[in-house]
Amino acid sequence: MFEKLALIGIGLIGSSIARATRLKGLAKTIAISTRRQETLDEARALGLGDSYTLDPIEAVKHADLVILCIPVQSYGPVMEQIGPYLEPGAILSDVGSVKGYVFRQMEPHTPKGVHLIPGHPIAGTEHSGPAAGFPELFINRWCVLTPGKTVPAEAIARLTAFWSDLGSNVELMEPTHHDMVLAITSHIPHLVAYNIVGTVSDLEQATQSEVIKFSASGFRDFTRIAASDPVMWRDVFLTNRDAVLEMLGRFLEDLSKLQRMVRVGDGPGMEDLFTRTRKIRRSIITAGQETAAADFGRPHGDVKTLSGPSGTALAEGTAAPLVDTNVEVASPVREHGGGDDA
Ligand code: NAP
Repeated sequence: MFEKLALIGIGLIGSSIARATRLKGLAKTIAISTRRQETLDEARALGLGDSYTLDPIEAVKHADLVILCIPVQSYGPVMEQIGPYLEPGAILSDVGSVKGYVFRQMEPHTPKGVHLIPGHPIAGTEHSGPAAGFPELFINRWCVLTPGKTVPAEAIARLTAFWSDLGSNVELMEPTHHDMVLAITSHIPHLVAYNIVGTVSDLEQATQSEVIKFSASGFRDFTRIAASDPVMWRDVFLTNRDAVLEMLGRFLEDLSKLQRMVRVGDGPGMEDLFTRTRKIRRSIITAGQETAAADFGRPHGDVKTLSGPSGTALAEGTAAPLVDTNVEVASPVREHGGGDDA
């Protein structure tokens, strides 16, 4: 158990950590700091912590676990402020969706004796703010930790135990490796989704309404990803540029190959590719990262039987929302494609 957990930022992720920590009794006290008074008031009204302050320095004093839960582009000034007040022996971590950049932002301000172990819970939703969090968010989700080279094993084991107690499966990685893996599993899919939905938004009005009307045939799933938080995803592409460009290069090469297959009518080539991709989908379901339910487990509501024009039975269901979750990675219930994810 930690003596004092300081959460800098109390939005979706920070408030989910606060709730789960409280529920599992993982810290004696929880100190909450955020930028704006109205967010602080909301966190207080929700009873998320034991102390509340707009001053991050006040929050980190005597804390043995500090977790930054703020947009990654705001780390620099916050670290500059809190760095000198971090307690020797404390663990300093974060939840940012990119790891190379945050390591470079945090390390210069981390005093000797403070253990820097950045982290990324691969879990989320499209919602933001203190009210959006819930304690089950991290259950059965991955949390990647990217400890500095000199961090003692006991400190890593302590933070690993903390995230395991929140319900996560924990994996250790080098920050650059994390960024490469997330570039292909999360960042490129988001880029593709933003692009495809952006293309539709540029279409003339009549075509656009037809795309929306018939969206079930693939487009709808892209809109789910393209509804992810714009600021968070802007930050991801600004701060993981190298890995994203590397993976985008490979993606474009493969897209060109596919374009050629279509142009020359290479049926066997396409069938071979689509058979391989189907296997990947199945292995994701086997790994428990997605539901095998029909139509991705979307609710179709009460099925009423109507008489169709030719006397055939028509099914009338509740239409699934066009834009529902944010997600970084997909899961059956509520998350971020699981979402971070960004
Ligand atoms: P959120 O719900 O929007 O909450 C953001 C928090 O950061 C709020 O407390 C906000 O304070 C504070 N903040 C915003 N801008 C700030 C700034 N310039 N300086 C200091 N504080 C600032 O965000 P979130 O979804 O919890 O995301 C937080 C972090 O988690 C991000 O780094 C993101 O990459 C990572 N992450 C997100 C997800 C996801 O699905 N959302 C998944 C995995 C990881 P005020 O409200 O007081 O302004």
